[in-house]
Amino acid sequence: MSHQEAIAAYDQLFSELVKSPDPYDVVESAWEELKAPYASLYDGMDLGDEVGPGWWPLLLQAFAEIKATVDPHPGYRFTVRQIKEKFGGLRFYYHLHKDGEDEEEIRFGDAEEENEEVRMRMHERISAIIDAAEAKAYATCEVCGEPGEARDTGWVKTLCDHHNEVMIGRNKRRGRE
Ligand SMILES: [Zn+2]
Repeated sequence: MSHQEAIAAYDQLFSELVKSPDPYDVVESAWEELKAPYASLYDGMDLGDEVGPGWWPLLLQAFAEIKATVDPHPGYRFTVRQIKEKFGGLRFYYHLHKDGEDEEEIRFGDAEEENEEVRMRMHERISAIIDAAEAKAYATCEVCGEPGEARDTGWVKTLCDHHNEVMIGRNKRRGRE
């Protein structure tokens, strides 16, 4: 599935989501399908469960760009460590290593100079991709993907006006229970 196809699938998901009597089933199965083309990056890890569907297009965009950065360098492997939402922001942790290297070697070892330079350039590119996704997330509703901003509704979430109202309503109902 190309990135364009992934985004088309995402749009399709949202039209289904609106009609579905059980949106959570749709959301779960759709995310499985959408992220599948990038499975080599997260290596079967359970990821993105803490991030709402409004941010999925940002993640898919980042995955596509990271894959394009890493794929031309066989022998290097990119692995997502964790993706989550915190204080209204997207947090994306990863590591990049050479096959056969363990994590300790990556941090403290001296790789061959030439390889180090390759890795350094990949790190720079990947950092820029992730920084861009994290910056966009701060301006994107985590629920629906429309323009949003950080709101404090008991805990800080980045939401559009509509979902801010939904959250406030939900908190009020919870407060009464
Ligand atoms: Zn929204």
